Amino acid sequence: MVNVYLKGHDNYYGIADILRLFGSPVREDRENGLVSCSMDTDIELISEIDKHGYTYAYIKGEIPRRTELPPVVPKRSVKRDLYILMCKITGTSFPWGCLTGIRPTLVAAEEGDPASLTQKYLVREDKAALAWQTSVEESRILNTHGEESLNIYIGIPFCPSRCEYCSFISNDAVKHMKLLRPYAEAVIKEISMVAPYIRRPVASVYLGGGTPTVFDDGTFGYLIGNISSLLHIGGDTEFTVEAGRPDTINAQKLKSMKAAGATRICINPQTMNSETLGKLGRKHTSEDTVRAYEEARAAGFDTVNMDLIAGLKYEDDTDFTESLEKILKLDPEDITIHTLYKKRRALMGRGDVLSRERGDTDRAVSDGYRMLYAHGYHPYYLYRQKDTGHGLENTGFTSGEGCYYNVAMMSDRRDVLSFGAGGMSKRIFEEGRLERCPCIKDVTGYIASCEEMAGRKIGFFDL
Ligand code: SF4
Repeated sequence: MVNVYLKGHDNYYGIADILRLFGSPVREDRENGLVSCSMDTDIELISEIDKHGYTYAYIKGEIPRRTELPPVVPKRSVKRDLYILMCKITGTSFPWGCLTGIRPTLVAAEEGDPASLTQKYLVREDKAALAWQTSVEESRILNTHGEESLNIYIGIPFCPSRCEYCSFISNDAVKHMKLLRPYAEAVIKEISMVAPYIRRPVASVYLGGGTPTVFDDGTFGYLIGNISSLLHIGGDTEFTVEAGRPDTINAQKLKSMKAAGATRICINPQTMNSETLGKLGRKHTSEDTVRAYEEARAAGFDTVNMDLIAGLKYEDDTDFTESLEKILKLDPEDITIHTLYKKRRALMGRGDVLSRERGDTDRAVSDGYRMLYAHGYHPYYLYRQKDTGHGLENTGFTSGEGCYYNVAMMSDRRDVLSFGAGGMSKRIFEEGRLERCPCIKDVTGYIASCEEMAGRKIGFFDL
């Protein structure tokens, strides 16, 4: 057990974030002024800000010493000190250094150059360069639409089966067959009540999930057709449909998407190894992915995104790079690389993530990025998740313009209006303050209260 006692500050959150890199579970005990982390080592540490504002992290009983690194604000400095100490104790370091937030590109933009990320936050040079390059691209994309523009998310929390690594509140569509049509109708009801009040330009619409293409052809046509007419999709509105599972895509649904003005489709293989797909609980093969991709091209989609996951439990790093090679041959405009992480409700545990050496996934991801650069792709958005077990990141690459919605959503600098169960609307105020408005998560509850949810959003956005 590692116990960190806080002295002269109360940044429990930051201290817990650093400890979470090294072990779990991490517990805050505010009554006794400490944060603890379950690890093989038994040690007591102090994280301190003294009366002059200097920060230290040291083993209890030892003499505190200041680091010689460039100064950062005290809140970040206590994290950095503890990170350095924990690296010494464990002999481990992490690619993103002491940056634990989900948006390192914001820090890169703040700092104004990649070298500062390395010098101040001990970020590895390749990750610093990645964050910097991505932050420049994020700003460029974000500024293609004004601050007054609105981005709309429509959530479909159903999937044909549950992937082993997923913790999303996704309902098994087979078990909830009877709810599918009522859910689609409730979403359309909610949109129809809010849409007349939207007087701001809509920059992007994202129909995501779950798996929005899980519906039968008729219900899917009803859903997407109404979304299109109610939100007046057309002109330069980016409209992404996350088709997700390739086995849910067919010519009729693609036709409905095109007729509704969809401009971008996500076909997500996650891996091109059919054996792994079966073990993960996904009911499709790599051949289904290729078929869905070709059908989407034939239907006229000129922007296709494909997601891959590095670090899957049943794979080694060559499986990942082989999958990427196959995807590169298909030549989609966007490729998003996720690194597997432990989500709270996933069937797969943190041990499964850590059962693979972090270095393997790290190496595979770096190899993958090199392949993407060599094929003319560049990173355009990036985010990290807490408790990853390996401290890596998820990065969207594009050979074209990238996805505006992804950038807007992750930037926290544009409003997002969400429809559907479990959606989170976000409103950004002038001074950068952000407010959130959650929507009921339970599908049955949502169907019963979609009108109330619509009223909540009209009020929240002052429409
Ligand atoms: S398709 Fe996506 S949302 Fe659905 S179960 Fe799999 S990972 Fe979760």
